[in-house]
Amino acid sequence: MNEEKAVVVFSGGQDSTTCLFWAKQQFAEVEVVTFDYGQRHKLEIECAAEIARDLGVQQTVLDMSLLNQLAPNALTRMDVEITHEEGELPSTFVDGRNLLFLSFAAIMAKQKGARHLVTGVCETDFSGYPDCRDSFVKSMNVTLNLSMDYPFVIHTPLMWLDKAQTWKMADDLGAFDYVREHTLTCYNGIIGDGCGECPACKLRKAGLDRYLEQRTNSTTVGTAGADIR
Ligand SMILES: [Zn+2]
Repeated sequence: MNEEKAVVVFSGGQDSTTCLFWAKQQFAEVEVVTFDYGQRHKLEIECAAEIARDLGVQQTVLDMSLLNQLAPNALTRMDVEITHEEGELPSTFVDGRNLLFLSFAAIMAKQKGARHLVTGVCETDFSGYPDCRDSFVKSMNVTLNLSMDYPFVIHTPLMWLDKAQTWKMADDLGAFDYVREHTLTCYNGIIGDGCGECPACKLRKAGLDRYLEQRTNSTTVGTAGADIR
């Protein structure tokens, strides 16, 4: 285990909660930072706070309401519909959101004497947000180090995983049930398996179904092997 301190960018969703479990396994000391940017559902902030309490980590909530002032979007405005047309960025996209989140997280982390930042961004999911790509994160890492003359390391444990593999990671960390039951991914604010209808629920369910199928198959193979012996 790394004896240093890490700060996890934490929303209370499946991905960042899986990253929090990962960080707790990797680092001696872990804190989380949650951004309040006027999410559609205040519940998202409460859900994140509850998970932080459950896992016994200190949480800092930063007010990022300026994000909505800069760029009104479907994540914060009930009057903007959630859409995702083929080949286009979804209406939930906010220019520079992750750029801002990582900057603020890094400033906070340095104050707290932490140089490790953990974020659940992922290049392989459907969204294609430019500031979630690996090349951006690497560039950001250099920029942060130069801007504060401090040796930050940004960790992206989910960068190359698909949604089924993210479920597997949670399972390997012994957190499958917890992540499934306590995290909030749904755009309609329903914790756990969600509404089942919104794009976030559909994506989450597709990954979960694929993982559960793989898990069943590998269990079957294991049992067959035992029978031969
Ligand atoms: Zn939903």
